[in-house]
Amino acid sequence: MGPRNPNPRLAKLHRNYTVEEVASVCKVHKNTVRGWIKQGLPTNDDKRPLLILGRDLRVFLQAQRVKNKRPCRPGEIYCVRCREPKVPAGDMAEYKPTAGKLGNLIGICPNCETIMYRCINMTKLDQIRGQLDITLPQALRHIGESTQPSVNSDFR
Ligand SMILES: [Zn+2]
Repeated sequence: MGPRNPNPRLAKLHRNYTVEEVASVCKVHKNTVRGWIKQGLPTNDDKRPLLILGRDLRVFLQAQRVKNKRPCRPGEIYCVRCREPKVPAGDMAEYKPTAGKLGNLIGICPNCETIMYRCINMTKLDQIRGQLDITLPQALRHIGESTQPSVNSDFR
C-alpha cells in the first residue's frame, strides 16, 4: 500500500502519464489509479494507451487531500475541478449501483459542468440526499419513494 494522499507535486505539469506511470510515481497500485479515474480523474479516454495529463493529475491529487479534510454535506458532491463540494446543477443527481449496496451519486457541477461522483452506501441514501432529487434505476425505485407518500405506486 502506498500513501493515502500522494504529494500533488509528484505530478509534473507538462508530462503525460499512463496508468502504470501514475501508479509508479505516486507509489500506489494500478487499481488505485483506475479508481481515481472512476472518481473523476480526467483522461484522454478516446485514445490508447490511456493518458493522464500531469496538470489534471495534480489538480486531482490536491482535490483528494482537501476532500479528506472536508467531507461533503448532505446533498453535496465533490467537484474535482472546483476542488470543493457542490450541490449539483438543478438539485438533481442520479444513483448508479456499483457493487452490493455501494454506488455512485452522479451530478453535474453547477460552476464548471464537470461530472461529479460521490461513492455512497445506498442504505445511507436518506441521510445523504439533502434536498436532491435523485434518479434511481428502475429496480430500486421503491427505495427512493419510501420517504414520500405513495399513492400511485405501480410496481411491475
Ligand atoms: Zn466544478
